[in-house]
Amino acid sequence: MKSVKQKTILVAGGAGFLGSHLCERLIEQGARVVCLDNFQTGDRANLRRLEREDGFELIEADIVDPLPAKVARRKFDEIYNLACAASPPLYQVDPEHTLLTSVLGTHHLLKLAHACGARFLLTSTSEVYGDPDVHPQVETYRGNVSCTGPRACYDEGKRAAETLCFDYDRLGRGVVRVARIFNTYGPRLSASDGRVVSNVVSQALAGEDITVFGDGSQTRSFCFVDDTVAGLMKLMAYDGAQPGPINIGNPVERTICDLVDRVLAITGSSSEVVYRPLPIDDPRRRKPDIGKARELLGWSPETTLEQGLKATIAWFEKEAPASADAAEA
Ligand code: NAD
Ligand code: UDP
Repeated sequence: MKSVKQKTILVAGGAGFLGSHLCERLIEQGARVVCLDNFQTGDRANLRRLEREDGFELIEADIVDPLPAKVARRKFDEIYNLACAASPPLYQVDPEHTLLTSVLGTHHLLKLAHACGARFLLTSTSEVYGDPDVHPQVETYRGNVSCTGPRACYDEGKRAAETLCFDYDRLGRGVVRVARIFNTYGPRLSASDGRVVSNVVSQALAGEDITVFGDGSQTRSFCFVDDTVAGLMKLMAYDGAQPGPINIGNPVERTICDLVDRVLAITGSSSEVVYRPLPIDDPRRRKPDIGKARELLGWSPETTLEQGLKATIAWFEKEAPASADAAEA
């Protein structure tokens, strides 16, 4: 078996929030990393440290298109597919492209994995559970997704991508892993990304009104980026028989109002909270059952919300420009 130092790893979506952290961890372990990204929501600034590394290479391409020859002809040991806008306002800008990114893009990468014998990991999402009527969400729950609403391009795209992955596995075309990631936050979330943590933190720091959608009683379970990335790497390394999809998230559930209170307390901001309409199909509750990840991967999150928010806020204070339009949804 190859050590990480001998591996060449493709990270599609490597210039994004999660992808850039993953690339850094892989480079630290000595792997050669090829990042493939179309910069739709990714940022060159996320790659600042990586681009100084000999083992790192960036290829600009869209996975909806046939893969460029310099990727398609290469041999990879592992392929992580993180390519897909993850913020609701951003993935809804071009819903057709979002759906095709998950379906066609995942298909292109699976074919590459099959051709070169690479192990493949899809970053699926808690959104496959939709607005869940089973709580907490366990992997066997089949979900409550609208296939016609504005979130469907993302949710149904990921569901179809999962289907492709498990069909590849059943057809014996390679080793496939599927992570269902729950809301992750941390340094490098873009201030204009539109997700709740980046909006609230940048609004609090700028002294702007904090936009709560609905009455703020809806819940999410927030996982710090380092924990999520560690979970993805453990899942990729898992050598047992096909484990099926695995939830990667923090099981501590919070209301949006609770999140806002914590950010206001840490920043000492005197921003006012303003209430805006709840977006269509916004899930009421979300909390992962991570029993499977604990048992099979020996993984569980280690960072508390307090610790993670402090690290995130410190990064926003230093790196992210205060955003006047962070709340645009
Ligand atoms: P992100 O938007 O910061 O990163 C996505 C990256 O993919 C960006 O660099 C973007 O430019 C790139 N990309 C998008 N479409 C592409 C395409 N067609 N071809 C090539 N590159 C493309 O999002 P993120 O939060 O880092 O999420 C990464 C992955 O994890 C996504 O697949 C997302 O669905 C999944 N995920 C994230 C979360 C979360 O809370 N962060 C939760 C569930 C699932
Ligand atoms: N949200 C909010 N204010 C914002 C952005 C989001 O109240 O400025 C709410 C949103 O309606 C949802 C929750 O926060 O209920 C999480 O939203 P996010 O877009 O981060 O992730 P997702 O809905 O995909 O879980």
